[in-house]
Amino acid sequence: LDKDDAVLRVEGLKKAFGGLVATDDVSLEIERGTITGMIGPNGAGKSTLFNLISGFYDEDEGSVLVNDVDVTDSEPHDRARQGLIRTFQTPRRLEGMTVREAMLVGPQPQTGESIVSLFVSPSEVEREERRNLERAEELLERFEIDHLIDQPSTDLSGGQLKLVELARAITTDPDILLLDEPVAGVNPTLANDIKRFIRELNEEGQTFLIIEHDMPFIMDLADPVIVLDQGRVLMEGSPRQVRNDPRVIDAYLGG
Ligand code: ADP
Ligand code: MG
Repeated sequence: LDKDDAVLRVEGLKKAFGGLVATDDVSLEIERGTITGMIGPNGAGKSTLFNLISGFYDEDEGSVLVNDVDVTDSEPHDRARQGLIRTFQTPRRLEGMTVREAMLVGPQPQTGESIVSLFVSPSEVEREERRNLERAEELLERFEIDHLIDQPSTDLSGGQLKLVELARAITTDPDILLLDEPVAGVNPTLANDIKRFIRELNEEGQTFLIIEHDMPFIMDLADPVIVLDQGRVLMEGSPRQVRNDPRVIDAYLGG
């Protein structure tokens, strides 16, 4: 793997809310093929950084590059086209849609419109949608929730909804997938399944950047791990390095 093969580059990102600097001069690179973890105490700026990277917030300063393309001034759906897709901590339920229909709409962006229709002419949409549905069904089967495909999405548990959200995101074949707390509120058994699915997808080449509060989960899954504290990158390293760094312990103890 080319060490310089960054799928995502963030340079000097800054965002303040009034007087509060939530993200303060953050620079980082996500290497292609990795599962990179992002941790940090509450209020460290993790969600703000995700929102800046995915284009949901406008930055005060800095830039975001996806596959070396500067997307700083692009809308979320343009970043999605560029290969950057995110999921949300709390996926919205798609009222009145079955899981199958939800899969067809594509990942919750970013859009409100189908990702598919952004790429191809209207005449091709139907064929493309059929292909996507096949891929989606394959993923649901793999995630062991294919029996839910005709259920209203409002009937799913929180954990099942997270899996559907993950499947929807993967269907678009992103270059980098940002997951915001993929196992928050998920029972331990399902959390273990999600870990296994993420690992398998990574072995097939999928790059991930994952925010997660569940420390054993992320330390077992990610390498490297980036630690944010008070809007800044405190350190980046292997799980072992992070675990043994006194600055990280201080940050979590509220130093
Ligand atoms: P984390 O996800 O690491 O817990 P956040 O990015 O949510 O941290 O928050 C970082 C800081 O920015 C916090 O002090 C939070 O209160 C503040 N913040 C986040 N989003 C907003 C917002 N939309 N308006 C005002 N303050 C915000
Ligand atoms: Mg957060």
